Amino acid sequence: MSAHSPQTLPPRRTRLSRSGSRLVPAPLPEWAYFLDLDGTLIEIAAVPSGVHADGSVQLLIAQMVARTGGALAIITGRPIREIDALFPGLVLPVAGQHGVERRSASGEIVQHAVVTSSLDEARSVLTRIVGRHPVLLLEDKGMSLALHYRQAPRLGGYAHRTMSQVRRALGDAYCVQAGKFVVELKPAGRDKGSAITDFMAEWPFSGRMPVFIGDDLTDEYGFDVVNAMGGLSVKVGRGRTRAQWQMQDVNAVRGWLSQSSGRRMVEAIPSLTRPS
Ligand SMILES: [Mg+2]
Repeated sequence: MSAHSPQTLPPRRTRLSRSGSRLVPAPLPEWAYFLDLDGTLIEIAAVPSGVHADGSVQLLIAQMVARTGGALAIITGRPIREIDALFPGLVLPVAGQHGVERRSASGEIVQHAVVTSSLDEARSVLTRIVGRHPVLLLEDKGMSLALHYRQAPRLGGYAHRTMSQVRRALGDAYCVQAGKFVVELKPAGRDKGSAITDFMAEWPFSGRMPVFIGDDLTDEYGFDVVNAMGGLSVKVGRGRTRAQWQMQDVNAVRGWLSQSSGRRMVEAIPSLTRPS
């Protein structure tokens, strides 16, 4: 677990380039890339199911995989299965549900040991609450539950209080994770930082300089880990952060990644590519 909770970020001055990525060092193919999805690679949608990975970002990621020899992982709050649906034809290394589940570059799936049946009661409580407030959205990710209030920001305080109460009933095996217009109930002990640490101990990430780009509170865990490893951390958008750099928006991230020149081009790894 990181030294600071993302809920209590210390103020920090960071560098924000007006042109987005101008001040950040150009990306190199020998680095290891860890990328959040929503708000980083693709625009946030009104509801989670509304996101769309357009052809240009699918091509960008496929090219990055080839250029880096497969050293690119998606680090997301979504389940792994949703990443596969957004990037058909690629079997990417992914940390899903904020690190609770992880698929390595060799395809091995590791799930955090937790009794998911204990989520049943929480699921029932939250389903009743969403029934009373249909403007709230309950997202069932299997091992974690997310309560979205993007359609009704005035219910944010209520959503957070409700989720904290539900969490107390479950005990310390679970924790609450805040995000942009969302509050999540997830197994404790795993986060985006621990997922990056695990990837960095494995082929093809190990020995490389890590880069992590994200836009939300949960990404601060990843920034901490990458900073401690001497890597490059980038927050998308404004706001307090422990990342070393900030980029303006999704377009700035895409523009920066597309600068990776392909020097030292490496063949795509066959195990990462599924026949279409
Ligand atoms: Mg995000």
